[in-house]
Amino acid sequence: MKLRDYFINLSLKKKWSFSTALVLSISYAAICIVIYFALYNWLYNNEQNGAIRTVDDLSSFFNSQDGPMSLRELQDNNGLMKSIINQNQTVRIFNMDGYEVLRINNHSPVVNITLTLDELLNTNVSKETVDGEDVIVVSRFVQIGLFQGYMQLIHPLTTFHSMMQYMLTAMLIAGIGAILLAGIISFHLSNLLMKPLEDLRDSMITVKEKGFEKPIKFSYKADDEIGDLLKMYLAMMDELQQSFAKQQQFVSDASHELRTPIQAIEGHLSLIQRWGKKNPEVLEESLNTSIIEVRRMKKMIEELLHLARREKRDEHSYANVERVLTSVKNELQMINSEAEINIHSTGEVIQAHITENALAQIVRNIIENGIRYNIKKPIIEVKVHYLTENIFITIKDNGIGIHQENLNKIFDRFYRVDDSREHTGGGTGLGLSITKMLAEKYNVEIEVSSKIDEGTVFTLRFPL
Ligand code: ADP
Repeated sequence: MKLRDYFINLSLKKKWSFSTALVLSISYAAICIVIYFALYNWLYNNEQNGAIRTVDDLSSFFNSQDGPMSLRELQDNNGLMKSIINQNQTVRIFNMDGYEVLRINNHSPVVNITLTLDELLNTNVSKETVDGEDVIVVSRFVQIGLFQGYMQLIHPLTTFHSMMQYMLTAMLIAGIGAILLAGIISFHLSNLLMKPLEDLRDSMITVKEKGFEKPIKFSYKADDEIGDLLKMYLAMMDELQQSFAKQQQFVSDASHELRTPIQAIEGHLSLIQRWGKKNPEVLEESLNTSIIEVRRMKKMIEELLHLARREKRDEHSYANVERVLTSVKNELQMINSEAEINIHSTGEVIQAHITENALAQIVRNIIENGIRYNIKKPIIEVKVHYLTENIFITIKDNGIGIHQENLNKIFDRFYRVDDSREHTGGGTGLGLSITKMLAEKYNVEIEVSSKIDEGTVFTLRFPL
């Protein structure tokens, strides 16, 4: 358990290197064991067959002698027999009583094994230890002329053992070398792969501690899984940074926008305190301005709250487009009696997938702007096209128009084209932000086109 905990808490780099080294050593050891034992058996059989072959050769030599041969003659022919056996082998011939009658070489002492006649007739092979040394002993019955006895060949395994020893040492050295090499290579490889992950961790720590002070950059550029992860992280951080900046901008804009009317009210209240008590004109004017500023502030606060609430989309509501448009038209014409708002529609009437409240707010903000940013008699043309898959509403005004370079900014919070600040009061710079927020909520697409001094056209597409 302790070992497991220790392993789990190791760094990925160490885990990787250890595992590779462990898997390699186990595989290497398994391969070595198989090779070693296969080789051992093969070489041992070779040694044994060599010993039996010598005994066979000696037997053939005895049988091939023309006519009966005496032991004495054999002893005299020692040299011939020496050439049949290996240098390190020892051969002894015993009579049936076990008395040694002939010996070729004398590298090993006699091995005492008791054998039955049957065993001797069939050639007996055994592995023995003489003086702490392993040997193969081959015993076989021999008949030389009238003599009957048995021969004993002692084949020492020294060469075989030193060969196996050499093999084992070579395997061990090669194995340790291979494991060390594998460990070093896998450590470097894991270093290479862990580097970008370490960079990622460092970047996260920096962002956590210091925010988005420094631009985030990674040296790892490969197009693999880690590269994808880093790209994903960069994209996420970019988005976060943007929304962070937007939020900061929003807070500073909101406080600035709210401070302006408060300062105006403060100024007018001081005026009233100083002069207003005696001068009814000043009193009247200052009270009027203060009321207008308070209303503007109230409107701004309501709009800010609306934007901040981000209520959930109502999936089951449908709006009767024409009814909503007519009610907005009546409402706006009540306040702006000089404005002309015309509504036309083509196609078979269908309901839009949006709440009537949201639809009213979207079109109200747009029509209101068309009236507000206008120096002529405002004429607003609203056209509804019912198609099979969409409803299009175009709202065209004859107002002052918006410069091309400002068109993509008008939906930003608190954004007001500079001229419009002087043109008309009442605007908060939040109307189109609310329109955009509602449009996104109900998947409504908005397009704007505008020409200075001619007017602006808003096109809304409601998917069905
Ligand atoms: P506001 O409350 O100031 O009207 P909006 O978000 O509704 O805020 O609009 C942002 C700005 O876009 C306005 O201040 C105005 O400069 C410009 N704008 C919007 N609609 C029109 C329009 N129909 N004609 C000219 N300018 C417009």
